[in-house]
Amino acid sequence: MTRSSEQANAGGRMNALVVEDSPPMRKMIVFALSRIRELSVTEADDGVDALRRIASTKFDIIITDINMPILDGLKLVKRLRADDAYKDVPIIIITTEGAEEDRQRALALGANAYITKPIQAPTVIKLVREILGMSGG
Ligand SMILES: [Mg+2]
Repeated sequence: MTRSSEQANAGGRMNALVVEDSPPMRKMIVFALSRIRELSVTEADDGVDALRRIASTKFDIIITDINMPILDGLKLVKRLRADDAYKDVPIIIITTEGAEEDRQRALALGANAYITKPIQAPTVIKLVREILGMSGG
């Protein structure tokens, strides 16, 4: 599932991890983020796959779905915030419209921001750039 991990850190780029169990949704987010040249994007299928990936790569930002099998986004946020290497790494959660309770729980667990499905590419790009302190749009 790693599309460009071999490019990680090439040219001092930042690493993003996209955690989403729906392949079309994941591809859409990865495609949007591929427009940020300074970013190298890695994909994970679910929370367990995400934990495997963070064990071998240091990510600068994590974008995660909430509803996933095995290890969902809320549990992932909790695990990341308990990890010294990830306690301060920005996390953006992806929620469905109306899932106010999930959003509140994720933010209370330490997520930094959220985006709501249906996802608009420019919204994701703008938010990621802002959070990573990248100039321009
Ligand atoms: Mg899902």
